[in-house]
Amino acid sequence: MTERETTPNTHPDDALAGIEVTGDFEPFRQRNDIFTRAFWDSSIRSDKTDRFFASYRIEAAPRRGDGFQHRDFALRNAAWLVSDVLSARGAEHGIREGFQAAIRPDTPVAPEAMAVDDPGRMSDEIKRVARFFGADLCGITPLDERWQYATRVDTRDMSEAPNDLPEGICNVIVLGHQMDAGLVATYPSALAGAATGRAYSEEAAIVTQLAAYIRNLGYEAVASMNDTGLVIPYALQAGLGEYARNQMVITPAYGPRLRFSKIYTNLPLHHDRPRKLGVAEFCAICTKCADACPVKALPYGPPTDEQRGISAIRGVRKWTSDAERCFGFWASQASDCAICLRVCPFNRDFGKLRHRLWRRLALSPLRRLALWLDRGRGKRVKPAAWWRGGA
Ligand code: SF4
Ligand code: SF4
Repeated sequence: MTERETTPNTHPDDALAGIEVTGDFEPFRQRNDIFTRAFWDSSIRSDKTDRFFASYRIEAAPRRGDGFQHRDFALRNAAWLVSDVLSARGAEHGIREGFQAAIRPDTPVAPEAMAVDDPGRMSDEIKRVARFFGADLCGITPLDERWQYATRVDTRDMSEAPNDLPEGICNVIVLGHQMDAGLVATYPSALAGAATGRAYSEEAAIVTQLAAYIRNLGYEAVASMNDTGLVIPYALQAGLGEYARNQMVITPAYGPRLRFSKIYTNLPLHHDRPRKLGVAEFCAICTKCADACPVKALPYGPPTDEQRGISAIRGVRKWTSDAERCFGFWASQASDCAICLRVCPFNRDFGKLRHRLWRRLALSPLRRLALWLDRGRGKRVKPAAWWRGGA
């Protein structure tokens, strides 16, 4: 058996990536993600969820207290603009690019492919180009059918549609895009949603430009955000970080404060390997995210393979949120929530020496001391303070 050969449900690097797939595993159907269900599942759809989606048009945005005022929704909605333009362009074909379908290419594959004699050097070049376009992290891993959606969604009627990639795709380039720390500190607020929107708009630009570069080299490249496959396990397999209780990937450089996009390609590339950092051991003694969640959507205790509703993948042992409760809170706020990111002890500026020292402690057997040192951190910054330049 070669290093990369797989049995249907397991992969040689699973243990290192912290991935445990059980016998009843089933690939995820995108129709079941909580955002898609809000359009077809009457147990999820409500006036509240309709108002949530409508609030991304300023005339339908509600007004409440600090952080939910006109300027907060205006900034949030503006931050989404680039992503919105991209995702709306295929509406008449039922294709919501970047969310319910892969991003359609704007650049043809060059008729003559540049020879790649050294996949390792090519990987280094791709990472350099990814940084040039603005990605904060880049890792590379093989295509893994387990994480590909069994079907995608036709947004004209929310029916299932084939989720096919071009022939010969074998690699996935995973990109990380950090979110603005000052805005994240103001969750929950519509203002904080500007950090999410700006990250999506940036990733839409970066992922399409990097895919266009690869296509200009003469290779297939399919740019992808939340569509086509689950990016979290790909990020783990690409060695970008470790899975945490708050369902995020904690990275050494940015903690959980970033989003991921991906490119499917047949460009010959060297693969990165997963890394055990010690995050799972830290999460085993920490419940700050679960404690802070206003609707108690995050789990306590060790990872389990219990499927918490159809919006969770079946047959993977992990920490899994209650997506219905979580999205219910988003809908009630008319904006996204990431309190569980804000309060996480790994949400720090690791450019600073004292935070790097804390990280070393947190990922060592002295993790309880690191958790104790974190007490009192992660408090919400008032959105008005951000507008005054104080956050
Ligand atoms: S995003 Fe908010 S509601 Fe959802 S799990 Fe995190 S803290 Fe809870
Ligand atoms: S808050 Fe604590 S338990 Fe939750 S993800 Fe962060 S380190 Fe893990």
